[in-house]
Amino acid sequence: MNQQNLPIAVVGGGIGGLSAALSLLRAGFDVHVYEQARELREVGAGLVIGPNASLLLYGLGLKDAMEAAGVAPLAWRQRRWQDGQTLLLSELASRTPPEFGAPLYTTHRADILGMLAAAIPAGRLHLGHKLATLTDDGRKVTLSFENGATATASAAVGADGIHSAVRRVLYGEEHPRFTGCVAWRGMVPADKVAHLDLPKESQLWMGPGKHFVHYPVSGERLINFVCLVDRDGWTKESWTERGDIKDVLAAYDGWHPQVTSLIGAVNEIFVWGLFDREPLPRWSTGRVTLLGDACHPMLPFLAQGAAQAIEDGCVLAACLKRGGDMAAALARYESLRRPRTSKIQLIARGNKTRNHLPDGPEQRARDVRMLAGDAEWSIGATDWIYDYDAAKASEDYLGLPPETLVA
Ligand SMILES: Cc1cc2nc3c(=O)[nH]c(=O)nc-3n(C[C@H](O)[C@H](O)[C@H](O)COP(=O)(O)OP(=O)(O)OC[C@H]3O[C@@H](n4cnc5c(N)ncnc54)[C@H](O)[C@@H]3O)c2cc1C
Repeated sequence: MNQQNLPIAVVGGGIGGLSAALSLLRAGFDVHVYEQARELREVGAGLVIGPNASLLLYGLGLKDAMEAAGVAPLAWRQRRWQDGQTLLLSELASRTPPEFGAPLYTTHRADILGMLAAAIPAGRLHLGHKLATLTDDGRKVTLSFENGATATASAAVGADGIHSAVRRVLYGEEHPRFTGCVAWRGMVPADKVAHLDLPKESQLWMGPGKHFVHYPVSGERLINFVCLVDRDGWTKESWTERGDIKDVLAAYDGWHPQVTSLIGAVNEIFVWGLFDREPLPRWSTGRVTLLGDACHPMLPFLAQGAAQAIEDGCVLAACLKRGGDMAAALARYESLRRPRTSKIQLIARGNKTRNHLPDGPEQRARDVRMLAGDAEWSIGATDWIYDYDAAKASEDYLGLPPETLVA
């Protein structure tokens, strides 16, 4: 396989698809992105970009854009729901960099999507292209879109999210699982809650059956918050709906005034049903593979879904650039990515139980561990996730003698 100018089709122009396209372009491929939406839009919500993802975005030439788009909080703080006791304080300012190579940023999702889209060269992002189906004849992949257009490529990447059409073509219809949790998300102007004197931190508050996260975004002009609440079912047709602030305040009745004040200060709020899947046994067939939520959707309880999609794109580009047989290159991509993303998926799922323990012996045991700094599952203690350079990991792996590489 001569990788020079090999055409690659990326289906889906979300954070995963666009960042993968940038990694693949940088590696020399002839990349086209096909996005179903007629215009790129993101929900009005926040996004944590962990150091492991910032580092890769820096590598794509987006350091200045990230500094402009993001806020670098001083710390992650985890607290008790009622009295605000700090259970875990993870300093970020002093460690990112040099320890993690790049800062953790808290951002507005629309700013990140806009930043990535602006970096894609003209003519390579095709909006209004909803994939209908694709076929792989062993030499090329042919993609058909609902608007009647077709495209061919040497490989296709399904970065089309949790409902992935590409995943359905490869592995058949299979519905994601409702996780028993919903998320209300809101943004509050920082000056409206100036009286709370919030530190420049990401804070996660844990209580029975729910938790609450807030952090500054958009040059600290806005405070983003997410309410994550256990719920038996999700019967709504759409996966996201306008919510009622009264319902949210009722759910957080009795919580610390910092939490209820933030919720009370919002003008509008939206609610999401949260879905995930079991880790998939494989992501690739022939010349087609998956990345991001298309293959490893996860609960946002480690704030790593988008970050892992960004890592996927980096590793995929490195494996394809190395050349050789396409199926073997995709197998290498999977073998490097699946163990890490599966581990993060499962720990994020476990955090639903850990973060939402009712007050009692188990909660007290958890808190003792957190206070002792023994909580590698917790969002404020995930050095093992942050201290990872996917570009370097690819180099190390692909630098091994060929016979030791999984193909
Ligand atoms: C409440 C909440 C909070 C979160 N917080 C964080 C966080 O702080 N940090 C973090 O890293 N992650 C977070 N995540 C996870 C993160 O949002 C996702 O993991 C990430 O957006 C996945 O990116 P993606 O590109 O794989 O998929 P998506 O963002 O879903 O993008 C898929 C794209 O494909 C397009 N598409 C779909 N079908 C087709 C088709 N047939 N043809 C063409 N295009 C198609 C869609 O329109 C979309 O643009 C959070 C998630 C939730 C729900």
